[in-house]
Amino acid sequence: MIKWRAESTHLCFYPFLSSASKYVEESGATLENLISSATFERARLRGKARILEAIKDGVIIKPAVITNAQAEMELLSYPFARILVSCIHDAHLVRRYVLSEAKAAHELLLADSSRDGDIIYEMAEEFSIHVDFFREHVQMPFVDYLRFTANLHDKKWKLVNRGLEKGRVKLEKGEFIRIIQEAIYERIMKDLPLNVPIAVCGAIKGYTDDIKRELEETRKKFGDAECFIVKDPNFFPPCITHILSNLKEGINVTHGARFAVTAFLLNLGLTEDEIIEIYKNSPDFEEEQTRYQVRHIAGDMGSVRYTAPSCGTMRTYGNCIGSDDICEKISHPLNYYRLKLKTKPKKSQAKAHA
Ligand code: SF4
Repeated sequence: MIKWRAESTHLCFYPFLSSASKYVEESGATLENLISSATFERARLRGKARILEAIKDGVIIKPAVITNAQAEMELLSYPFARILVSCIHDAHLVRRYVLSEAKAAHELLLADSSRDGDIIYEMAEEFSIHVDFFREHVQMPFVDYLRFTANLHDKKWKLVNRGLEKGRVKLEKGEFIRIIQEAIYERIMKDLPLNVPIAVCGAIKGYTDDIKRELEETRKKFGDAECFIVKDPNFFPPCITHILSNLKEGINVTHGARFAVTAFLLNLGLTEDEIIEIYKNSPDFEEEQTRYQVRHIAGDMGSVRYTAPSCGTMRTYGNCIGSDDICEKISHPLNYYRLKLKTKPKKSQAKAHA
């Protein structure tokens, strides 16, 4: 448990820590007060703002906190935000919110650790990772490494690409902080959505309604700005639709599925930026890495331009999901698209080529 930063003005920026929960417990604030007392209105508004920032920006902006009273409201806004997302009970929102909190903590941890390296050590302790610290790097048990990198798909995280010494994996400090982000994500996600009594959800309906409205607006906007409007997604084969929907929902997608969808969309003529946009909800999204991979598949780096995998390959890797009657007539997802486009009524085709 992190003790030395037990001052609320610092602790409030890491509200998922055990010491933060303890601080809240000992503050004497009850659930009833938190949801209805005028004293805690600032905490409730900030709790709502946390979720709105997650919806709009995908990251939670840390406010300036100077006094203990401000810190206490910031701390209490976190359990209130958890109650809010639980009452809304939307799996996509929960994932987006958790990821935004984890990303914000990661940013802060990078900044804090450059001033004081001890915080990384204490974070490791908090998440029970037995790390050995060296001047320029750290070493952690491969079991912990595998657990916390399960959602990181980039090649550099694969165990075979790391130095393994006596069961311990060598990492740069920055890489270890990225792993801590995964531990934070896991901690925040734990128990969400909470089982909140209906009466409590009813009492905070004003806040949840505001969030639902914003969520709806953002979904409409996202729909309007959907990058593949000219390539009508209604004509996409079920396998590609399934992968895209997982990406949109922030669900982790295998490397093979990412390759398939990227190659498919490149073959349809989507640009690099349009494809990168699709990956932005992924828990392990890193723009530079994604750009590198998209360019590689597009053949922009001196490599060959890859074609989308055939149905046979999709089946082999478990990516042929939801096949329908059109699938029986084709052997390649791109042919599914072409065939469906050809057989659609003229009006739809005109729209698809608009
Ligand atoms: S049969 Fe081919 S196009 Fe149809 S879902 Fe499977 S992989 Fe996709």
